[in-house]
Amino acid sequence: MATVITGIGELTTNDPETGKLNDAALVIEDGKIVWAGPNAQAPAADERVDVEGRAVLPGWVDSHTHLVFAGDRTAEFEARMAGKPYQAGGIAVTVGATRAASDAELTANLRRHVDEAVRQGTTCLETKTGYGLSVVDEARSARIAASIVDEVTFLGAHLVPPGAGAESYVDLVCGEMLDAVVDDVRWADVFCETGAFDEDQSERVLLAARDRGLGLRVHGNQLGEGPGVRIAVELGAASVDHCTYLSDDDVEALAASETVATVLPACDLSTRQPLAPARRLLDAGATVALASNANPGSSYTTSMAFCVATAVLQMRMTVEEAVWSATAGGARALRRNDVGALRVGARADVHVLDAPSVTHLAYRPGVPLTWAVWRCGERVF
Ligand SMILES: [Zn+2]
Repeated sequence: MATVITGIGELTTNDPETGKLNDAALVIEDGKIVWAGPNAQAPAADERVDVEGRAVLPGWVDSHTHLVFAGDRTAEFEARMAGKPYQAGGIAVTVGATRAASDAELTANLRRHVDEAVRQGTTCLETKTGYGLSVVDEARSARIAASIVDEVTFLGAHLVPPGAGAESYVDLVCGEMLDAVVDDVRWADVFCETGAFDEDQSERVLLAARDRGLGLRVHGNQLGEGPGVRIAVELGAASVDHCTYLSDDDVEALAASETVATVLPACDLSTRQPLAPARRLLDAGATVALASNANPGSSYTTSMAFCVATAVLQMRMTVEEAVWSATAGGARALRRNDVGALRVGARADVHVLDAPSVTHLAYRPGVPLTWAVWRCGERVF
């Protein structure tokens, strides 16, 4: 069955050949975009949806979340807002709750958060393990994630679990734990940060994952300058995420590489850190993605629109740059070319705003503007 969406006031395609179209239409068939062009030339289809001048853009591609978890960290958030600094060790609280939860509870919690994201226009989502930190709990986290989301990342190297030694834990991550998750994940990640994993440990984890054929991602430069960006670029990681504290060398290295700099403004705000220097990265020529980092500790939001508004209002990105980074940029960070753009052949992930242009995402911050969402050609909101 084909569906034609007519009356599109402004169509953001992220297709360099098509650019942005006014007064446009789109045709969806078999889960894919099969036509995009002027409204007046829209072909007939089995079903017609007139969006009456609203703006249409690709669904958000949220390339960084941690949604396989149980419990919450309201108390830690309250303490932080009262002046206590953020530390990586808070992760252990979620690890305890996650280990104690049943598979059914973890599945239901993940499903609830993914549904929440979909209702806000997210149509492609990555999530990570990393709150199990034992072979059994990482394996079931990966299995549950793989049953629900588009992209799964193994983050056994999130934190050395309480009671374990760092070196023996890294051995476990690189060996038995990696073997237990490898069939359910496409990516491996490491939290390369003071209080988590140092440079040598991070490299060991990433090299072991690469040997198993996994793509690489890195959490780096969140709480201070460090080796995260450098090793991500050296090892050819698809993305290095956070990038809050960058040296000039880091910026140059990112600009000269295929590694995407993924910035996580909701996390920077929720941890009262400075916002990542997205403007500096863009001006240097680096590829920037925007993601939510949805997790119960440092960034408990699934709202990509909030990230876009923050990027524009506080990080000096233009609306076009921010929208691109939250769609095509996320796709680039996941090395996918089927999502993040509305061109013929792409997955029919379509986000309709109750507004005449994407500018309203920043012009009307905090207002829920998602009006309709198609994912893989199915209307899901
Ligand atoms: Zn993260």
